[in-house]
Amino acid sequence: MTATEDLITCSVCGTRYTEDEGRACHVDCPLRGNCGHLSCPYCAHEVPAPTRLTRWLARWLGRRAA
Ligand SMILES: [Zn+2]
Repeated sequence: MTATEDLITCSVCGTRYTEDEGRACHVDCPLRGNCGHLSCPYCAHEVPAPTRLTRWLARWLGRRAA
């Protein structure tokens, strides 16, 4: 059960994708994935890439919600 925590859920279309997939389709950015943003493979909606802090927060909030 380690794969699920690395999936990003798009807030626009609900597509779930990995960080690598988000980086791979982030074609508009000249930095190509080094800019700290991910792009949804389906609708191209951009989100900030998860950091150690946001991962920790998501885990913490998920634990509290469950
Ligand atoms: Zn999307």
